[in-house]
Amino acid sequence: MKEECGVAGIILPDDRPQSNAVAFKLYYALYALQHRGQESTGIMVHDGTSPKSIKGMGLVPDVYNKESLGRLIGNAGIGHVRYSTTGGSKIENCQPFVLNFKGGTVAIAHNGNLVNARKLKDELENEGRIFISDSDTEVIGHLLVKELIKHDPIESIKTVMRKLIGSYSLVLFINGAVYAVRDPFGFKPLCFGEVDGGYGIFSESVAIDTLNGTLIRDVRPGEVIVFPGSSFESYQLTAESHPAHCVFEFIYFARPDSIIDGKLVYKVRERIGRELAREYHVDADIISPVPDSGITSAIGYARESGIMYLEGLMKNRYIGRTFILPGQDLRETAVRLKMNAIQDNVKGRRVVLVDDSIVRGTTSRRIIDMVRKAGASEVHARVGSPAIIAPCYLGIDMATRQELIASDKTTKEVEGLINADSLGFLSIEGLMRALECDRNDMCVGCLTGEYPVEIPGEKCRKKQTRLDDFSKTKSSSQAVSSDSL
Ligand code: AMP
Repeated sequence: MKEECGVAGIILPDDRPQSNAVAFKLYYALYALQHRGQESTGIMVHDGTSPKSIKGMGLVPDVYNKESLGRLIGNAGIGHVRYSTTGGSKIENCQPFVLNFKGGTVAIAHNGNLVNARKLKDELENEGRIFISDSDTEVIGHLLVKELIKHDPIESIKTVMRKLIGSYSLVLFINGAVYAVRDPFGFKPLCFGEVDGGYGIFSESVAIDTLNGTLIRDVRPGEVIVFPGSSFESYQLTAESHPAHCVFEFIYFARPDSIIDGKLVYKVRERIGRELAREYHVDADIISPVPDSGITSAIGYARESGIMYLEGLMKNRYIGRTFILPGQDLRETAVRLKMNAIQDNVKGRRVVLVDDSIVRGTTSRRIIDMVRKAGASEVHARVGSPAIIAPCYLGIDMATRQELIASDKTTKEVEGLINADSLGFLSIEGLMRALECDRNDMCVGCLTGEYPVEIPGEKCRKKQTRLDDFSKTKSSSQAVSSDSL
């Protein structure tokens, strides 16, 4: 199962009287992360004696209310927003997972996708363990509890990390402390900051902004940070550092006002637009974004090309992402419901439409037809990502290879299918310039079909030597305290 999610955790200093402040803060943080998952959400807070949770299907404002949140007393808590592909849409999969065991309480909020979840689950089931969900997060929970019965939390997390293959940005609650864990490749984002005298750990920095906190930094690939209350300690579990951050977070998924791995997403997208303008110039009258995802790149394209930026399309702001609707028919209706052309702005004009990505191609085809119908004389499509040719196994819901319009077609063929006068996909080199980083430090599996981890039936671009390094360095893991920062 593929999951796109947002995670959150907050802990206030131990001397603070127990209150519902953490529950309300988690609510606002999850609201800020709503774009990362709209299917279900959950919050767990702990008051030192027992956990209390609220979970539900739907959006953050629909699942919680003042009364229910008000009852969640406790100065440490974690939360989650989830969106998965169809099939996994049920309350049992809703996170955080809370496990009460002989040694206390563990709660887990996970963003990512384990490639070896099936194998690990089989092993656990053979040992007699029972699962209530089909989510790989529960696998992490069982593995963790097995270790916690024998070892301390850091040792236990290390042992579990060694078993996991795939992407995982985790926020954990274990017996009074909150932990941030990021996989050795740092696929999915995770950062932390100071929030109301305590600490907050979130998928994206916009949650820290919302809570009027201060971003401290990203959690590093292979890092475990423990937050006992008014301080934190870091354990770096890998010696080597060759990250493989997800490019699609920068292209589409993250909010543009977030800072991820030290980069403001807005700036990256603006540079993507500039690179596109350099790579695919065309004489045109206006540059129009496909709202909202194409706005920042369209601004960059217009600035670089000197062609007027003018909105040719308007979006109905009360409609969620079209992707969320199951079935092709419903998706196509949703595109029409979602977007409308502004006739006066496009009539008789040569229009460049800038969007962040083409996945199945449904949206582009519909939108281009819409702009033509509104009177545009030419419609040129410019896409802020290279062609997506392969599925994502690491946490972005990207459709199957067969569904991906560009997986087996040339740009010319896609151009014809979406009915554009011309089509330009940003090159991988252009994307790396916009990201200001090395291709080897990013996961570009969906763009090349080569993945940083071994996936059965797919090509692997670098071997997982990092996990060997990981075990070698385990005894020398150094704690860095918050005072030394
Ligand atoms: P389509 O080509 O019709 O599948 O739709 C592509 C559009 O959907 C892009 O312009 C994005 O704005 C958006 N999109 C791309 N990837 C995703 C995703 N993983 N989840 C939801 N929406 C996406």
